[in-house]
Amino acid sequence: MAGAAPAGDGTLVEVALPVPANGGVFTYRLPGGTVEPGRRVLVPLGRRKATGVVLGPAASVRGELRDVLRVLDERPLLPLDVLQLVRWAAAHYLAPLGPAIRGALPPGIDLREELRATLTPEGEALLDGARQRALLPESKEAGTRTRQLLRAVRDGRAVRPGQLRALEKRGLVALSASEAKARVEAPQVELAAAVPGALPPARSPRQAEVLAWLLARDPKGVPVEELLAAFPGARPQLKKLAARRLIALRSEPAGAARLADAPWGSAVVRETAAQSAALAELRGALDARAYSPFLLDGVTGSGKTHVYLEAIAHARSQGRGALALVPEIALTPQLAGRFRARFGDDVAVLHSGLTERERLSEWHRVRAGSAGVVVGARSAVFAPGHDLGIVVVDEEHEPSYKQEDRLRYHARDLALVRARDAGAVAVLGSATPSLETLRRAQEGKLRTLRLPERVDGRALPPVEIVDRKTTLRGRGDPELLTPALSEALRETVARGEQAILFLNKRGHVRSLLCRSCGAALGCPNCSVALVLHREGGTALRCHLCGHQELPRPCVACGSEDVVPLSAGTERVEEELRGLLPRARIARLDRDSAGGPGKAAALLARFARRELDVLIGTQMVAKGHDFPGVTLVGALDADGPLHLPDFRAAERCVQLLAQVAGRAGRGEQPGRVLLQAFRTAEPAVLAAAAHDYAGFARDELARREALSFPPYARLCALRLQGNVEARVQAAAERLAGRARELQRRGGEPVEVLGPAPAPIARLRGKHRFQVLLRAREHRPLHALCRALAEVPLPPGVELAADVDPVALV
Ligand code: ADP
Ligand code: ZN
Ligand code: ZN
Repeated sequence: MAGAAPAGDGTLVEVALPVPANGGVFTYRLPGGTVEPGRRVLVPLGRRKATGVVLGPAASVRGELRDVLRVLDERPLLPLDVLQLVRWAAAHYLAPLGPAIRGALPPGIDLREELRATLTPEGEALLDGARQRALLPESKEAGTRTRQLLRAVRDGRAVRPGQLRALEKRGLVALSASEAKARVEAPQVELAAAVPGALPPARSPRQAEVLAWLLARDPKGVPVEELLAAFPGARPQLKKLAARRLIALRSEPAGAARLADAPWGSAVVRETAAQSAALAELRGALDARAYSPFLLDGVTGSGKTHVYLEAIAHARSQGRGALALVPEIALTPQLAGRFRARFGDDVAVLHSGLTERERLSEWHRVRAGSAGVVVGARSAVFAPGHDLGIVVVDEEHEPSYKQEDRLRYHARDLALVRARDAGAVAVLGSATPSLETLRRAQEGKLRTLRLPERVDGRALPPVEIVDRKTTLRGRGDPELLTPALSEALRETVARGEQAILFLNKRGHVRSLLCRSCGAALGCPNCSVALVLHREGGTALRCHLCGHQELPRPCVACGSEDVVPLSAGTERVEEELRGLLPRARIARLDRDSAGGPGKAAALLARFARRELDVLIGTQMVAKGHDFPGVTLVGALDADGPLHLPDFRAAERCVQLLAQVAGRAGRGEQPGRVLLQAFRTAEPAVLAAAAHDYAGFARDELARREALSFPPYARLCALRLQGNVEARVQAAAERLAGRARELQRRGGEPVEVLGPAPAPIARLRGKHRFQVLLRAREHRPLHALCRALAEVPLPPGVELAADVDPVALV
């Protein structure tokens, strides 16, 4: 019945649902009336009900046509421009639209079904103990567990849906579903306020007490939560006071989210000439009200943040909104703090460190227009801001802007698309711009603004390369701290200054090596070495799948002569405590941080100079501004070069420049030591010479010669499954079909592979990769769409990664 006119009354609408089938887009009939795109609807899907988002009118129907059950919103929840951005992203990244739209919404907007369970006669009988034997062909413990669950059902206590379904399967309970309220409204706070001049009721001393307390407080109201903390259990008194009209109870949307404890940085007194020049250009571009993208290429400590803030202030003065993306807010509380200091409650922060409720509340403040400046991590590129005037991407080279699951988008690239569609100014800021961005600038697609010097005429710190080969004594493990770095640390701490040590590996040592046969102890699920952790009991951990085991003899030969290979942050901490027993030392990595709040608190302590030395992974390299730091050491500067990735060198020099940039940002000059085995690598030399531009020039030439991005477009087709032979066969079939389609003409696409993925096993799955390469995206997209028709054997999954960042 394709193309059929709607039967009876009603219009046809396209609805996005978070399911993979059909790209997640289905047609429904809306009985009576119309509904704009962006509003949520409740629709039947198979045998259940699902919450979907209206995309727009539908032209035709495929299959059975069913009715929208209910329209859930009075106004669109998702603005049109965000819908448009998600559509663009789903098409570009070859992802189903339905789930992609779900990714642009805050958590908790689904109408949730609540399962109600009642015991069946069998369930009753089992609980009574009458027919235990027959019904429970299971162990004694399992039987006890089942009875516990059934008792919980009978008593109306909470039981997880999965467990309820299992009981239903066994015929012990009957389930029915009912709708629970979706938490889509902005979270509210309940306020209590005394009616001015209210007289305390004579015969209720407790009510009188509560009223007296309220009368002495803010007449606009006090959060009920706070009142109940002062008068536990006083809810009935509140109700009675309200009934007597002595107090008023009301609710209002919750205010701005808290920000982590962090020093907010100094106010800028006098702009540098370079800052003023950059701002003049940006204000001019804002006044022109047309899309204009910029690269803000400024060395570390050159005051890029000030430029972002003032450009945003100009957009706000025009009544337009602003979006600022930062790599990971939890790690850069200072930056969010500076925004809050400049714009107050006009700032909404969106990141994973917030609770679900806080995130929803912030999202609503943006949606409602009560916050005009959004600061957020990559997913904030989908924030529902109004009439955007400017989009900022700080540290635009950071790989964390790439989302590596579900919709595999690059937030920096989407930021440009969003700015273009909004007619906004885009500012990509970095001290070490990605080669993609540099190339766009060369082609004239971005205008470059430069901040070539640090503020206040401070110098970039001198960088020395220290050869680690001199520390390789005997057959043992190389020392982590060279004598040169040890000496520098001692001096720094003795002077009362601070140091940062950077090592790109967590844990105690990287891996264990068998000295008899040379095998490394690897993860049984993933083809990577296990990492030894000492914290919370010695254990080997896989950093990919989380597998944990106790140290064991070599699997290959049984020898017990296994030795540590190279060091992680935990071992440095130990060595350092031996070297500087009186220094205050802390470690920051994903193991020690234990949540974004803790990381921020540790960084704040370091900023207040309550710590002398901070050791950590790239978490210490982020855009922190610590004026007390005069020494920075990279312990394994050439380590990142080992990654099996064409971007390894770029990534390495970016990391080194970033850590080096933490030194000498205050009154005292700084100093940087790079420890490396391969001391003549271009990436290491460039970092030492503060010559990122020179590195980029050579590296661009190399990429061009090898036809890698930014001179080509890539799409990685990743196949995975439990049975290696099947995955490999599927990969070969896919590559073969791709070559066949190529021979029939069309724009050229090069087919590379199939090959085992650099990490050939991950979480127990075997992985193969086919890499497609072309000059432009268009032929890549076309080929991928054609390949989507190739049937895959059962148990093999295929995912496309357009513009991949990590080739793993
Ligand atoms: P970047 O992001 O370029 O590394 P920041 O924006 O973090 O640099 O600025 C570094 C420090 O310099 C901050 O403490 C900031 O307050 C300060 N700063 C910025 N501009 C000026 C200026 N014109 N004069 C003095 N200090 C400034
Ligand atoms: Zn693993
Ligand atoms: Zn061995």
